[in-house]
Amino acid sequence: MITVEFDYKKATTVEEALAALANGDGKLLAGGYSLVPSMKLRLSQPEFLIDISSISSLKGIQEEDGFIVIRAGTTHAEILNSALIQEKLPFFHTAAGVIGDVQVRNRGTIGGSLAHADPAADWPALVLAADAVIDVVSRNGSRSISATDFFTGLFSTALGENELITAIRIPVPPAGTRTAYMKFEHPASRFAIVGCAVMRFPDGKINIAFTGVAEYAFRDKGAEQAVAGNTLDAASMDAAVNAALQGQDVSFMGDNFASEEYRRHLAKVYLKRALQAVA
Ligand SMILES: Cc1cc2nc3c(=O)[nH]c(=O)nc-3n(C[C@H](O)[C@H](O)[C@H](O)COP(=O)(O)OP(=O)(O)OC[C@H]3O[C@@H](n4cnc5c(N)ncnc54)[C@H](O)[C@@H]3O)c2cc1C
Repeated sequence: MITVEFDYKKATTVEEALAALANGDGKLLAGGYSLVPSMKLRLSQPEFLIDISSISSLKGIQEEDGFIVIRAGTTHAEILNSALIQEKLPFFHTAAGVIGDVQVRNRGTIGGSLAHADPAADWPALVLAADAVIDVVSRNGSRSISATDFFTGLFSTALGENELITAIRIPVPPAGTRTAYMKFEHPASRFAIVGCAVMRFPDGKINIAFTGVAEYAFRDKGAEQAVAGNTLDAASMDAAVNAALQGQDVSFMGDNFASEEYRRHLAKVYLKRALQAVA
């Protein structure tokens, strides 16, 4: 299947990309591994694409002012291979390694994944569990959006029409923080049927986020509260598992691959495994 006709512009700076974006019905092109398939399916028909894959200021991972900063154009493979990520955010390393296949990891970017907000994507659960903020810029200025405010619906986010994600900032976890990402993947695409990200801080606070289960990734406050501050033992883990998915303000999903009931079951199984991993 081929796309409808479109024009192509290559931006070499963020300013160039923003100027082009403000100038008609264009879309940013990062890795193209979500956008191009959706153009082939006619779900997206932009007049022109603005290729941002060569903008050097959108690349790289650094520690800055108490944050791990992952620039939006950093590929899944670059995250996988980052020593800083392996040391400070090991569950980002785990997640990067289970995204798609080598080609997808070499081209796809974290910024593209967050902007696309596929309900089965991995990064949304990770940025939620890690208390990340998402830095965005437009011609009107820049702002930071908390990950918990970023995902607003199926394939929809708090991003404004002409905004571009520049970076994802994650507070450097205190020493002794433990993390886990557990995923039940679709056997063909490797998208998450269920993904569960857990971050356990030394003071007993636990962040829990799910992807794949609902129309968008979410933090599970009920499960977090059931287990927070407790010794992670069989009883507290069971309390979290029992509390999980209750009272959430999201619609749960079922499809040909996994019914809603099965996804809910898997979510609890993968939460338990993730809690065991950080215990
Ligand atoms: C076969 C296959 C398997 C896959 N498996 C997985 C998987 O297991 N897990 C998973 O999470 N994902 C998976 N993906 C998706 C993959 O990770 C994509 O690369 C990712 O979702 C999108 O990143 P991209 O850089 O390719 O973005 P693009 O496709 O270039 O763009 C996606 C959307 O984001 C917008 N965009 C891109 N960059 C920015 C930016 N900086 N600011 C604002 N908007 C921006 C674009 O305009 C577009 O609307 C898979 C894809 C394929 C084709």
